[in-house]
Amino acid sequence: MSANGPAAGDGATTTALPPAVTVTGLRAAYGRIEVLHGVDLTVPAGSVFALLGPNGAGKSTLLKVISGRLRPIAGEVRIGELTVGRTPAEKLARQGVCAIPEGRGIFPNLTVRENLRIWTYRGGITMRDVEEQSFAAFPRLKERRRQMAGTLSGGEQQMLAISRALVTRPRLLLLDELSMGLAPLVVHELYELVEGLARQGMTVLLVEQFVTTALAVADRAAIMVHGRVEQEGTPEAMGEAALSAYLA
Ligand code: ATP
Repeated sequence: MSANGPAAGDGATTTALPPAVTVTGLRAAYGRIEVLHGVDLTVPAGSVFALLGPNGAGKSTLLKVISGRLRPIAGEVRIGELTVGRTPAEKLARQGVCAIPEGRGIFPNLTVRENLRIWTYRGGITMRDVEEQSFAAFPRLKERRRQMAGTLSGGEQQMLAISRALVTRPRLLLLDELSMGLAPLVVHELYELVEGLARQGMTVLLVEQFVTTALAVADRAAIMVHGRVEQEGTPEAMGEAALSAYLA
């Protein structure tokens, strides 16, 4: 992906940029049950990186730790100069880390417009800009602007969630199961938008159950199994045999 964008700075190429995310020896648990058993991963800046693997492998948990929502029990996550774990999730958000969790991360009891208004609170962006950008990308949201977000269709809710990245232009976008419950056409549209964001320099780390969809947009991918990264590389180098063996 090219890295000429607001997030990447002035025309540097991807290879010249430091890694966006470095995960080293990461262990994480829910209560006493450890689910990440030593994850090592490097996500290059400006790339689209797909995390794949069977159910329960720990993909969502890894995103939770990276976004500061779950404290690791060992190891380290660095995002640029920041060490996650020592940085509150709120500060991470201010430094340009945007997590769109499974289940969409929108406020169901607020209208579409009220949800959009929340993106203006970080400053530097007006409601007019927010609406212009969101409604240009998703005309459906304009039609539904007075509707409670919780009563939108699944696809519309996902459009609202992703419009946050469109408007706030984070440096790192963490996407968990963008496709969940959506028709293939909507999934395709949303991933086109994600590709567009990456072309402008945003780093995207995504978890996606549809392997073909994920590999079509990804520059690099990793397969997680039982709380560890088993394989990492370009989609071409991953090999279909390995993929189907792990994901069967
Ligand atoms: P899927 O593809 O099914 O979403 P995943 O690879 O994202 O799976 P995680 O959701 O990270 O996997 O779950 C990893 C393990 O942690 C699973 O065994 C799961 O049951 C467990 N787990 C996840 N969330 C919690 C939680 N809040 N409390 C307790 N255990 C949890």
